[in-house]
Amino acid sequence: MPSRQHSPMSHSARLRRAEALNARYEGSQPWEIIERVVREEFPADAAVISSFGEESVVLLHMVASVDPTTPVVFLDTGYQFEETLAYRDRLIETLGLIQVISAEPDAEQLAAEDPGGLLHRRDANFCCHLRKTLPMLRAVRGYGALLTGRKRFQSTTRAALPLFEVQDSWIKVNPLALMSRQEIEAYAELHRLPRHPLVRQGYRSIGCRPCTVPVKPGDDDRAGRWPGLEKTECGIHFGAPGQPVRRASPQRQDGR
Ligand code: SF4
Repeated sequence: MPSRQHSPMSHSARLRRAEALNARYEGSQPWEIIERVVREEFPADAAVISSFGEESVVLLHMVASVDPTTPVVFLDTGYQFEETLAYRDRLIETLGLIQVISAEPDAEQLAAEDPGGLLHRRDANFCCHLRKTLPMLRAVRGYGALLTGRKRFQSTTRAALPLFEVQDSWIKVNPLALMSRQEIEAYAELHRLPRHPLVRQGYRSIGCRPCTVPVKPGDDDRAGRWPGLEKTECGIHFGAPGQPVRRASPQRQDGR
């Protein structure tokens, strides 16, 4: 990936810009927002963050329809389900994505901090910091706008998600924020998009293998993430200033 420079915009200017973008695109369709963001608002300065999870295909299809060369950053934590990796490869081929970037943890840091690979049991926050937040920060540091596939219906913590928001040095764009589950499903069906194979097994929010379980009917989509812990976000979408995190999580109750 070429080395990129950060936008020199100040934090307050970024906040004003996000506010103006929210006003400008209120009521717009998700694909219109994506097209305008990629082509006009942040030309050559926008990247997609994707887990290649259960509903990622909808955002990726919209992005690929606008410009398949748009960079897509995928976090390869080392704990992805085999099904997710196979699904990622399938979507790259099916959608014709040209630039999928794998963000991986630093091997030396992992060897020092998580030699046995069981950090997720002792301290899930720190594990996410090493395996997700830091690699993601390294991968996206040169972009001004980051497109995500988050939706309001996914959880109570995302119920007020705006279309545009500021996180640290980035403007985050959530073009699907207001779509309902039914609209997501209808879009996927209309375009005959392949679905993540684990959805058939009851998974509705798919992350790392040790920290993801299927959910029960009626639960939040994200209830299957970090079962037994109060943790709800990994640090990519929740205040990630890039500083080391060492807050021990409560012990898991499920022995995972
Ligand atoms: S989701 Fe679990 S395994 Fe993955 S980085 Fe976070 S704590 Fe570690």
